[in-house]
Amino acid sequence: MTGIPLEFTDMPLFDPASIEPNTAGLWRYAAMLPVLRNGARRVTLGEGWTPLIAEQWAGRDVYWKLDALMPTGSYKDRGVSVMVNWLKGLGYESLADDSSGNAGASLACYASRAGLRACIFVPATAPNPKKAQIAIYGAELVEVPGARSEATRAVEVATWNSREMAYASHAWHPAFLLGQMTVAWEIWEQLGGAVPDWLIAPAGHGGTLLGAWRGFQHLRVSGVINRLPRLLAVQAEPYTPLYDAFVAGADAVEPTPHVERISANGIAISYPVRWRSLLDAIRFSKGMMLAVAESEVVQAYEELAGQGIFVEPTSATIAAALKKIPEKTFRPTDLVVGILTGHGLKDPPKI
Ligand SMILES: *Cc1c(COP(=O)(O)O)cnc(C)c1O
Repeated sequence: MTGIPLEFTDMPLFDPASIEPNTAGLWRYAAMLPVLRNGARRVTLGEGWTPLIAEQWAGRDVYWKLDALMPTGSYKDRGVSVMVNWLKGLGYESLADDSSGNAGASLACYASRAGLRACIFVPATAPNPKKAQIAIYGAELVEVPGARSEATRAVEVATWNSREMAYASHAWHPAFLLGQMTVAWEIWEQLGGAVPDWLIAPAGHGGTLLGAWRGFQHLRVSGVINRLPRLLAVQAEPYTPLYDAFVAGADAVEPTPHVERISANGIAISYPVRWRSLLDAIRFSKGMMLAVAESEVVQAYEELAGQGIFVEPTSATIAAALKKIPEKTFRPTDLVVGILTGHGLKDPPKI
């Protein structure tokens, strides 16, 4: 793997007066999302503007941001919808991504709506419901044997030097990260203009938490808020490359060898593309990282479902982390927001 990920730099400042409250989903922020060419019709399913609900968890008040309730069942619809609008405007006819399932399902969905072809490379071990979802949208599903990183290698070969097929990567593409920023703007609006003291999310490649962080940074740069949340990123054993670097205070990431299938398969990432930006952001925010064990994930997953919140195990990692947070990390009055990223039906348990 070569190079570093790109980011959008010249975004319009966030102007609360330009929010369109009657436009469905995240496109209420269209003025801040400069991805549509003149006159182009927006490709959308009304993704975004998901509920933020107040909850009791592990003996404290938290807010859950229910990004599992997206058109394709995962938070990735934020970034993918914005990215597909951008790539369609650039004239691509076909879009490819490598994915453990959710990004691929999202890209397959929005490509079909945009009238574009999609080709999705998944590890052969990806959950069947995710593979079925990719296929029903009409995408070409390529199952790649071996580790997750083999799917990445395959898509890089397929898109290298191609003029027709874009690598619409949820890990690399700047427009994906742009779309992910909208989660912060929604949380800010839904909290009545407050900023969370802590923002918690699972971390695979890091786009979820980094997108949210960039969203809050953008509010601050725009003079809308005057402070930033602290970040808590959660990884699942044994895929803890970011956690290990964070704990060691290291400035490099050791790839995790691909050894086993874990419940939290959405974050079984051995080498996170945005590792440096995410580590910088966590440190800058005076945040922290936690690693959770398989048994802790499964327990939290079942307990969440017992409260009517059926998310996939990958998402339950943050609920597991909240149960083992070191004492005195939070003050009693802290406003804590966790992002629940994927729907339970994505990867249902065996009965
Ligand atoms: C992709 C994914 C994540 C991880 O997000 P990153 O942006 O890779 O850190 C978390 N939860 C679910 C359900 C996912 O699909």
